[in-house]
Amino acid sequence: MKGKIAYIPQARTLEFHEFDLPEVEPGAILADVSRTNICGSEVHMWRGEFGKRGVMPGHEMVGRVHTLGKGVTTDTAGQPLKEGDRIAPVYYRTCGLCANCRDGNAAACLTMGIREKRLVPQDAPHFHTPFGTHYYIQPGQHVYKVPENVPDYAASSANCALSQVFFGLDRGNLRYDETLVVQGAGGLGLHAMAVAKARGARVIAIDGVDLRLQRAKAFGADELVDMREYSTADARVRRIRELTKGVGPDVVLEVAGIPDAFLEAINIVRNGGRVLELGNISPGLTVAIPPSFITFKSISIIGVATYNPHYLLKSLNFLSEHIDKYPYHELVDAVFPLERAAEAMDKSDRKEITRAAVEP
Ligand SMILES: [Zn+2]
Ligand SMILES: [Zn+2]
Repeated sequence: MKGKIAYIPQARTLEFHEFDLPEVEPGAILADVSRTNICGSEVHMWRGEFGKRGVMPGHEMVGRVHTLGKGVTTDTAGQPLKEGDRIAPVYYRTCGLCANCRDGNAAACLTMGIREKRLVPQDAPHFHTPFGTHYYIQPGQHVYKVPENVPDYAASSANCALSQVFFGLDRGNLRYDETLVVQGAGGLGLHAMAVAKARGARVIAIDGVDLRLQRAKAFGADELVDMREYSTADARVRRIRELTKGVGPDVVLEVAGIPDAFLEAINIVRNGGRVLELGNISPGLTVAIPPSFITFKSISIIGVATYNPHYLLKSLNFLSEHIDKYPYHELVDAVFPLERAAEAMDKSDRKEITRAAVEP
C-alpha cells in the first residue's frame, strides 16, 4: 500500500511524493490523516520564506491509527489505543531532560532546534509531516485520543493555536478576576478568549474588522475596542485605562503579529503586569522600544513559541467541554481535497480565505 506526502521545493510549488507505507518501529504509530490545516507557517513556506532549500509543510492534523508499533497500547495519557481510533499528535518532540524541560518549560526545549534537521520526503520513514495521506508519529512524540464529541474541524488545530495560548496564559499566570487584553481576534486570540473566560478572567479584545470583532464577542470577550473608532495607539491605551479603573489590564496577549502591537502592549499593561508575546514571528521586523518603559513599569515580558506537549491533552479536554458553547466551526472557512492543496495555499496567501483545511 502506498501513501502521498507533500513537499514545497520552491516558492509557490507543491509536489506530492508517493511511497510505500513504512514499517512501523517499536513505540511509533502510523496514522491515516483525516484532515490537515493550512496555518500561518504553511503560508510562509508557500511564499518561499523558509530559505532556498525545500520544506515539508503541515503540522496541524487529526487522523486515525493505521498501525501501532510494537509496545504501543495506549496514548500518552494512558488511554487504550487500537487501530482506527481517532488521534491528534503534538507536531514536535521535546527531550524531557534538558534544563528547560526539567523546569516545566518544555516549549523552550534546548534540543528542539538541534535534533530536527530539514527533512525531505525521500528520508525514511517519509511521512514526517501530516500534509498527505499518512503521518508517522515517532516514539516519544505525544499523541492523544480525540474525545468523541470533538469534531475533526476542532481537533485538527488543537495541537497549534489552542495549546499555545493555553500554555501562554498559564505562563502568564492569568487568574480569576484579572483582566486580559487580547490584541487581535484571529485564531490564537479567539482560543485565548475562551480559555481566559473559563478561568474567570475579564476579556477586552482589540481588532478593527467587523467579522473578527463579532467573533471575539462570540468567543467570550466582555468588551471590544474597535481600531476604527480608536485609531491610534494612544487612543486605545486611554480607552483601555477607562475600562480598567485607570490602571490598565493585568495581562496583555499580543497575537496581532506586528511589531507595533508589541510596543502598544507594553503601553497598555498595568504597572507590574505581564505581556505575553506570541504573535510576532518574522525575524526581519523590528520596532524601537524604550527599555525604560519595562524598567519603570516593572513588567514581565514572556515569549511563547510552542507549548509543553501535555497541553494538547488539556486542549482536547477543553474542546470537549466547550464545543457547544463557542462557534468553533467558524474557525475554518474552506475545505479542499488533497489534490487541490496548492489552490488552498494560494487562496490562503491571497487572504481570500482565512483558514483552509485539506482532506485526503
Ligand atoms: Zn498551526
Ligand atoms: Zn528538553
